[in-house]
Amino acid sequence: MSKWPIGVFASVDAGLGVNFDVVKELGIPSIQLHAPHQSTRTQETADAFLAKCTDAGVTITCVFGGFEGESYADIETTARTVGLVPEDTRAARMQEMKEISDFTRLLGVDTVGLHIGFVPEDTNSESYKNLLITTRDLLDHVKTNGQNLHLETGQETADHLLHFINDVARDNLFINFDPANMILYGTGEPIEALKKVGKFVRSIHCKDATWATEGRRGLDWGCEVALGDGDVGMENYLQTLNELGYDGPLTIEREIPEDPTQQKADIGKAVSLLTEVRTKVLG
Ligand code: MG
Repeated sequence: MSKWPIGVFASVDAGLGVNFDVVKELGIPSIQLHAPHQSTRTQETADAFLAKCTDAGVTITCVFGGFEGESYADIETTARTVGLVPEDTRAARMQEMKEISDFTRLLGVDTVGLHIGFVPEDTNSESYKNLLITTRDLLDHVKTNGQNLHLETGQETADHLLHFINDVARDNLFINFDPANMILYGTGEPIEALKKVGKFVRSIHCKDATWATEGRRGLDWGCEVALGDGDVGMENYLQTLNELGYDGPLTIEREIPEDPTQQKADIGKAVSLLTEVRTKVLG
């Protein structure tokens, strides 16, 4: 693939991604895939989906893990339910994430992605120390499948995420940078954050959002909007990625599966915008 192929976040039967038919109709050449439900993570599903991708000329660049019981209803609920951080489900989800890595291998993909959750702020706490052990265990398994793990941004500040990655100390842990999440979760100005974590960024989301009201950031969600309509600033974003030497796909995310018509229209608009800005930035 040439530098910065357009991509989109897609779903088969789970997650907030777009249906594969839309990927095909819009002629988008790469996808990140939300892992299908446990019961459909089979060789058969992998073979059938790969055949569809080959037929449509689509490359899968990353498979994202997700778990039953996760809810993004509000920031507090997200903190309580998402990723490997919640202690009640940590061990079981780590096991399931290993299975997702195995399924990803069946697809011939070398990257798995994950929202790890709100990493505990107290780095001396038992929960934080155990999360380090859990993450290393997962990474060692992911490595046996010849894969890297990319952590999605937003639930931590850039500084805290860097601290965590350094503490985990494994060479197959990287970042999937999502600028809109920094705004949605109120965890920091996205371009500033990107510059801080840049050396770990191996995949990205092109998503946009507007900030929550001043004084409520980090407490209330910001608002996810169509690409170009929010506070990220796509030209500044792509310019910064270029300065950092990023050459992977530009994966569009539009998380409104409840309105497939609008989702498709917004993704189509995002493809046009990114194509235009890419030309401007790369010359
Ligand atoms: Mg994202």
